[in-house]
Amino acid sequence: SLSAEAYRRRHEITVSGNEVPAPFMSFEATGFPSEILREVHSAGFSTPTPIQAQSWPIALQSRDIVAIARTGSGKTLGYLIPCFIHLKRCRNDPRLGPTVLVLSPTRELATQIQDEAVKFGKSSRISCTCLYGGAPKGPQLKDIDRGVDIVVATPGRLNDILEMRRISLNQVSYLVLDEADRMLDMGFEPQIRKIVKEVPARRQTLMYTATWPRDVRKIAADLLVNPVQVNIGNVDE
Ligand code: ADP
Ligand code: MG
Repeated sequence: SLSAEAYRRRHEITVSGNEVPAPFMSFEATGFPSEILREVHSAGFSTPTPIQAQSWPIALQSRDIVAIARTGSGKTLGYLIPCFIHLKRCRNDPRLGPTVLVLSPTRELATQIQDEAVKFGKSSRISCTCLYGGAPKGPQLKDIDRGVDIVVATPGRLNDILEMRRISLNQVSYLVLDEADRMLDMGFEPQIRKIVKEVPARRQTLMYTATWPRDVRKIAADLLVNPVQVNIGNVDE
């Protein structure tokens, strides 16, 4: 079998950080609970993608992570499966607020993330809702009041709901900034910073991005603590 070094070379994975764990080169190597492995196999996936292989063991160590990989490389499950495992250990009463918060740039992407969370998390019995603009707030507020483990939100709508004091983020212990480069391109940086101020400092923060320009590096430096960085292929700046 391949060494970690050879696997990284073959898949153009570069890592930086202290004592970065070896990639999971197969699903068997992940040690994921059998109900999660069943979902993955029934989706027809035969091996982890390179970003999954390298970011899963890091995320499972509860470390902060910056993952940079092109669109279509499987980043969503890169943070969702560790999130399900985090929820098994650290789920709070969802009526007090979500345990997991995923920020996403658009309604379309937020909905796709929710669909994937529902599909792969159904055996873990997680609950998930989506908060985005251009739709009435009523049903979204109702979901929040009923209580959900995972909130997937666009920064604009979540910030509006926070200003109405209709959601509490003080139970969040797993924070994901997905498509961070696109969120900054869309001008969401002020809303992201306001939202993150409401999330406890004692948390795990994961940032996923397709590119690594200066503004993304700056917000990563401000919001993540001692992150491990994983790049797949060449990085566009
Ligand atoms: P990204 O966020 O990097 O753009 P996605 O998470 O949207 O990528 O994944 C792209 C596609 O790859 C999705 O259809 C997803 O279901 C699929 N996918 C994810 N993981 C795997 C895997 N291990 N093997 C095969 N397909 C996968
Ligand atoms: Mg994505």
